[in-house]
Amino acid sequence: MRIRFRGVRGSVPWATMASIGVGCNTPCVELTDEAAGRTLVLDAGSGIVGLGETMTGPPHPVDVLLTHYHWDHLQGLPFFAPLFQPGWRPTIWMPTLSSEIPLDALFASPFFPVPFERLPSRPAAAIVRPGRLRIGPFEVRAQPLHHPGGAFAYRIRGEAGDLVYATDHEFGDEAVDLAFGAFIHGAAAVILDAHFTPAERPAHAGWGHGDWDQCARFAAAHGVAHLWLFHHKPGRTDEALRTIEADARGLFPATDLAVEGTTFHV
Ligand SMILES: [Zn+2]
Ligand SMILES: [Zn+2]
Repeated sequence: MRIRFRGVRGSVPWATMASIGVGCNTPCVELTDEAAGRTLVLDAGSGIVGLGETMTGPPHPVDVLLTHYHWDHLQGLPFFAPLFQPGWRPTIWMPTLSSEIPLDALFASPFFPVPFERLPSRPAAAIVRPGRLRIGPFEVRAQPLHHPGGAFAYRIRGEAGDLVYATDHEFGDEAVDLAFGAFIHGAAAVILDAHFTPAERPAHAGWGHGDWDQCARFAAAHGVAHLWLFHHKPGRTDEALRTIEADARGLFPATDLAVEGTTFHV
């Protein structure tokens, strides 16, 4: 399974010259099962727009698996090219959280010029509950996280181990963290929410995010092979993020910053 970061920034795609190296698009991760020739898209932040531009030609199945409904994980969806190409008809996998939304509300006037009913390739909606699910060739497990309004983490089987995508999580709820630790145990690669620094976090209790120090310790404690720091704070510079990466490696050497465009395999 090939993984490619399409958007790595949290909250808002605020682009600055000093932060563009790591990337400023909001969350989107492209998974490709190369044997089956199938794509699974994790989240629909602004990073999904660039992915959509590569999806041209005859229709093929596209599945978009959402973690939750905050804008930064959805704001690219109305601009996803397959929705405007007849015959593509992507499937949007929607987690059962406390605040479910009807898909058509995303396209409603006055917020968007093309109503859902007039999309050339209206998406289908599918429901995701905690536990196992299968999306084409992808074997997926869903696990609730601690985040305002809820969010799901996903563990997806690859050829050389599992990938865990767990963004938008605030550590500190003992029961949730215990179950989450068991969920990530032994994974080949884990993508975690490192929005804050340890110094910033106390002033943002309840915002639903972690820091790099917590991520590195959590990965080390649960037998993870590789950690990717993700959901970077908007505006944080490339230089500051490289310092964070170096500091995190001091706790857990197999750590990398998620950088837009980076590809790896599991
Ligand atoms: Zn987010
Ligand atoms: Zn969120």
